[in-house]
Amino acid sequence: MSLAKIENHDHQQWASVADQAQSHIETRLFIDGDYCDAVDGGRFATINPANGETLAEMSEGMPEDIDWAVASARTAFRSGAWSRIAPRERMEILYAFAGLVDEHAEDLAVLETLDMGKPIGDVVAEDIPAVIDTIRFMAEGIDKIDGSVTNTDNDSLHMVIREPLGVVGCISPWNYPLLMATWKIAPALAAGNTVVLKPAEQAPMSCVRLAELFVRAGGPPGVFNVVNGMGETAGKALALHNDVAKLSFTGSTEVGKLILQYAGQSNMKRVALECGGKSPQIFMADLPDLEAAVDAAYNGVFANMGEVCSAGSRLLVERPIYDEFIGRFIADGKDAYVPGDPLDPSCNMGPLVDRGAQQRVLTMIEKGKQEGATLHFGGNAPHGLEHGAYVNPTLFGNVNNEMSIARNEIFGPVASVIPFDGPEEAIAIANDTIYGLAAGIWTKDINKAMRLVKNIEAGVVWVNSFEDGDMTQPFGGYKQSGHARDKCMDSLKSYTQGKSAWFRLASQ
Ligand code: NAD
Repeated sequence: MSLAKIENHDHQQWASVADQAQSHIETRLFIDGDYCDAVDGGRFATINPANGETLAEMSEGMPEDIDWAVASARTAFRSGAWSRIAPRERMEILYAFAGLVDEHAEDLAVLETLDMGKPIGDVVAEDIPAVIDTIRFMAEGIDKIDGSVTNTDNDSLHMVIREPLGVVGCISPWNYPLLMATWKIAPALAAGNTVVLKPAEQAPMSCVRLAELFVRAGGPPGVFNVVNGMGETAGKALALHNDVAKLSFTGSTEVGKLILQYAGQSNMKRVALECGGKSPQIFMADLPDLEAAVDAAYNGVFANMGEVCSAGSRLLVERPIYDEFIGRFIADGKDAYVPGDPLDPSCNMGPLVDRGAQQRVLTMIEKGKQEGATLHFGGNAPHGLEHGAYVNPTLFGNVNNEMSIARNEIFGPVASVIPFDGPEEAIAIANDTIYGLAAGIWTKDINKAMRLVKNIEAGVVWVNSFEDGDMTQPFGGYKQSGHARDKCMDSLKSYTQGKSAWFRLASQ
């Protein structure tokens, strides 16, 4: 059922869609244009974090399955059935693919919610439309990236031709399973590459369906393959594979560093990294609208249960407005996110992705308490929801940047408010982190805003807003948040390489 038809589904409808979906979950891998079991028949359980129940036993891809998928992708690439067809033909297939994602919005959305606990309302309003936009944007870009003809002497002609890379390996995280995978596969496919995707093992159910829809849209077999499995086995085998030309990774900084090593240990493949973050939002005393700023503060750290790479988890507040800011945050933000059943479209906070994540976040909260931060609300698991991996939205005040809650990526609904005096101190605190993904700046003063924009070490900076943007905006980090750029035309171009062709012209 398409997006337009599911926008008004109520809780009961989603519960019944979920019941039906659970009876026919696709558990297999997708290689060479079809579903298949793992070579050794292995399986792993995927759990619903809202109730702890096993949803399905998924096929567990091992290095042999990665070999098979890469071989299939390589054969498909070399056949030219995708890489050499007219750009507009590829474009039409990708448009049809985006159309099928829309047509299947209901089943894709419910898989996402069941598997990682994301509120169904968010999946329908944000994730699925963003997946469709990404595929369409990259399809539109196919014939908009040009090579070049350079200025040479009169007896030569030199051109740079843009070509696809070959087989692209993609490794994606679980926090936006479909969207993070699509930020990679859409530009890779649009540029004419073939793809092997290894989704996160915590949320493996939805991405494999994308590959099926691609083939139904007319995509040739072997062009888009999906191998579910563990990071240390299937993911590592993909990153070490000698026939993979580029490895595009989104996940933790720790694993991003391993991916760089695997590239060096194998074929020096290109590596694109989108990693963790500990993003600051800086609230200057002269901000234009306290209510809007506080809204952006709690939405920026509680949305998607705080499981957002660019979450504004460090809230730097200038001292003259500190008390008022905290007071309003408590008044407006304390009950803004209420943990509940993610299949209820009115729910805006589901469980964390699994029990491990819940324990990790609760441990970080305990550290915050021990280190002397002031706990204003939350700080525990909600009563009555013990069957799921839930954590209450949590606000810490009087945090200093040395505390572990300010230094480590918590990846949960935990806000840390840090007081500061003046723009120079704000810049020093904001940049005192290994990360550099995103930042928010709130001030009426254009000079101050510009100075902060210039001095903040982050790949994305928002002024008087947070998490805004569209497909034209490059998304990616500085420092140990990685170096890739998703979403924009640069992303599409990064899945191509330039070939220099120099012609010596014969004299007449
Ligand atoms: P993770 O690093 O644990 O896993 C990410 C992926 O890497 C998974 O598919 C996993 O199976 C795989 N993997 C794990 N070990 C591997 C290995 N040794 N070799 C190859 N692959 C391996 O991250 P996660 O917990 O899934 O996701 C959360 C992290 O992702 C957070 O740090 C978050 O900030 C980051 N993230 C970043 C962005 C961004 O755009 N910068 C977007 C979303 C998430």
